[in-house]
Amino acid sequence: MARQRSKSDLPNKICPVCGRPFSWRKKWSDCWEEVKYCSQRCRRRKSQADMITYVLEPKNLS
Ligand SMILES: [Zn+2]
Repeated sequence: MARQRSKSDLPNKICPVCGRPFSWRKKWSDCWEEVKYCSQRCRRRKSQADMITYVLEPKNLS
């Protein structure tokens, strides 16, 4: 089962922030496993959302 890798056969991921699929890029060749977002912008948006959630969620209600 040899699979040839053509340009249309690049790995794909769905960005959890904007919900759009994005494909493998050369700059990610070393860290594709860790890439989660399609762009810096989405990455920042996500961490902002996390911070807001963290602030809004009362974790220690005693
Ligand atoms: Zn995105």
